[in-house]
Amino acid sequence: MQTQTDELIEQLQEKNKQYQQEYKDIFAQHVEGQSPKIAVLTCADSRVIPELIFNSSVGDLFVVRIAGNISIDETVIASLEYAVNHLNISHLIILGHTHCGAVKAAEETQGSESLLLKEIQDSFCLDESNHVNANLTRQHTLLPKRSKSIQDAIANGSLKLISAMYHLDDGHVEFL
Ligand SMILES: [Zn+2]
Repeated sequence: MQTQTDELIEQLQEKNKQYQQEYKDIFAQHVEGQSPKIAVLTCADSRVIPELIFNSSVGDLFVVRIAGNISIDETVIASLEYAVNHLNISHLIILGHTHCGAVKAAEETQGSESLLLKEIQDSFCLDESNHVNANLTRQHTLLPKRSKSIQDAIANGSLKLISAMYHLDDGHVEFL
């Protein structure tokens, strides 16, 4: 008997074939390397898809996604440092979003031992009326403090750190 999981995999395989067909003319242009100018740190939320939001394609965006778009994890920071130091990206956008489930979970779960939820909760005092905004503001402040190379790149003018808010209800990105 076929499980639901198998059906899901079959659907993915079919969609991958469609993708291969749709993009077949541009794969060869990007095999040897990548040179995106923009990195995006955003939430893992299935409704927040940077490549769709910014109408982008293969090779355009270097994207790191983690629930709550936080930069506490050293591998998240290392990934962004790779983009800054090796790909020489010029813009790093921290993209928060309205109705963030991770922020909601942090609001509803007091005394949690979860690294994710505690990290988000630590921002709430910055804006008690808008915790999504508070989390984004705190991450913008903390990222350069957590990464010397990102801090240096901002200081020497080679990197711009930008915060933006994605609005789920209409797809609008508000640059802050
Ligand atoms: Zn989220």
